[in-house]
Amino acid sequence: MKFAFDLDDVLCNLSPQLIAFYNKTFGANIVRDNITNYSLSKQFKISPEDAIERTFQFYKSDYFHSASPVAGAQKAIDQLAKKHDLIVITSRPSFLDEKTHIWIENYFPKKFVKIIHTNQFSKEGSDMTKGDYCREEGVKALVDDALENILDSINDVENLLLMDAPWNRNGELPEKVKRVYNWGEIADFLSKINE
Ligand SMILES: [Mg+2]
Repeated sequence: MKFAFDLDDVLCNLSPQLIAFYNKTFGANIVRDNITNYSLSKQFKISPEDAIERTFQFYKSDYFHSASPVAGAQKAIDQLAKKHDLIVITSRPSFLDEKTHIWIENYFPKKFVKIIHTNQFSKEGSDMTKGDYCREEGVKALVDDALENILDSINDVENLLLMDAPWNRNGELPEKVKRVYNWGEIADFLSKINE
């Protein structure tokens, strides 16, 4: 079977790095638990252009480069990769392709058969959503922390796992979507999916 994983805040523990960068660079005082909106522009009350600029500034910083994997992800991926085809679908812009591949190979060597960049949040975004890529790839499950991506994939993917985060706790989840809190739960759920 084929399973798809989001990268940031599912495999890569990126939000603490972004928050540390943001606080230091823009003199803010943000804590992860207070981030209730996935959109940086809405969360930080800045224009979408500024949000992209600041995110790009972050990508160039050491904070971005020193992100570590989410707890338990390496062990779980290692086990799942023995039986399944695993892919990464990330909305990181494609100019980060090389750095992203290096990071993934460093922490998850040869575990993923494919890495897809949707390019969604870049200046020259693609029209294809994660749901579209999931359908094209025929994935049986998607794990993501962005509720938008999960909802967008609702008709394309049979099993949808939402990695719990402060920014995805608003509102009711469709019955089909399962909220998960850690990699032990993800591995357990995915290993029980039948063909
Ligand atoms: Mg994410």
